[in-house]
Amino acid sequence: MSTHKRLVIPGPVEVREEILQAQTQWMIGHRSTAFADLYARMQTKLKHMFQTEGRVILLGSSGTGLWEAASRNCIRDDKPVLHLIGGAFSERWAEISKANGKQVDTVEVEWGQAHTPERVAEALSKKAYDAVCVVHNETSTGVTNPIKAIGKIVRQYDDTLFLVDTVSGFLGAELRVDDWGIDFALTSSQKAFALPPGMAFASVSERVLARAKQVPFRGYYFDLIEIVKSGDKNNTPSTPPVSLMFAADKQLDDIMAEGLENRWARHLTLREMTHQWADSRGFGVYADRAHASPTVTTVDNRTKQIDVDAMAKFMAGKNFSMDKGYGKIKGATFRIAHMGDMQVAMLEEVLAGLDEFIGA
Ligand SMILES: *Cc1c(COP(=O)(O)O)cnc(C)c1O
Repeated sequence: MSTHKRLVIPGPVEVREEILQAQTQWMIGHRSTAFADLYARMQTKLKHMFQTEGRVILLGSSGTGLWEAASRNCIRDDKPVLHLIGGAFSERWAEISKANGKQVDTVEVEWGQAHTPERVAEALSKKAYDAVCVVHNETSTGVTNPIKAIGKIVRQYDDTLFLVDTVSGFLGAELRVDDWGIDFALTSSQKAFALPPGMAFASVSERVLARAKQVPFRGYYFDLIEIVKSGDKNNTPSTPPVSLMFAADKQLDDIMAEGLENRWARHLTLREMTHQWADSRGFGVYADRAHASPTVTTVDNRTKQIDVDAMAKFMAGKNFSMDKGYGKIKGATFRIAHMGDMQVAMLEEVLAGLDEFIGA
């Protein structure tokens, strides 16, 4: 066994050795037939992963790039956008819309709580929005929002696009783009996809493209119309991260073999184990239980107040890289990521290490 430090942080996550190896294939030119074959192969598998009959795009970028793409392409300058905020990542996406000159309204919930379709319905009944932006899995708080129920509300409005950040949810928590009425679902490679960082993926509806045509200045790198135009020819507008695509192609095969629904179920098992541990050791869970994330658990440290720096140092001695909480709840919580290709045996080892630290 290798003695590298295993990542239990919520991104980047542990990448299997076979996937790392897949990156070492000889390079191919991105205007070659071999590349078009690779692109087409990945497209078919990605459509299954997003549960969509529509298009999926991929490019060299982190998830943040596709936040910018969503805000720039899907919102007209003279129309407002509604951002649903309840943690650090949903806050940042709203900042990105503002940085692109968009008019941002918000619905906010307390950290640890999930959004409700009722409040979204109320906001949409008062004003016409170009888009509703929501984070599927709020990585800072460990909350998974009820995307299906919110989608039902948003789809009652023909001119309102439904944009979903599923960066830390995709391939860990259930997501069905077509059934749930999602126009743009964006993600990146280094979370539950369990790839190295550097790639971003999104499903793109026809409604998104129709809207983008109404936005004169979409920028260049993240112009969805150009990206889709190339994608339809199994290509990309500029040079893509080919090595990462080799890794992604292999990982997609492996996820197909595991089965998408089995993968979602495995994440639920890992969540149950983590909750059981957090409860029985007197911590509890920070997120509202009814909406607790299948991919990351935010352990509530407000009662026990263990020293998270000492914990992380202790766990480093066992070759685990641990999280110490995010943003304003750092230390008051710490997060255990159980996403990607993590199996029960590794989580057991993590929890046993934590038990040793707290003397349980
Ligand atoms: C990590 C994360 C992001 C940022 O993605 P990058 O790939 O780091 O740019 C956005 N949203 C959520 C929910 C995340 O967890």
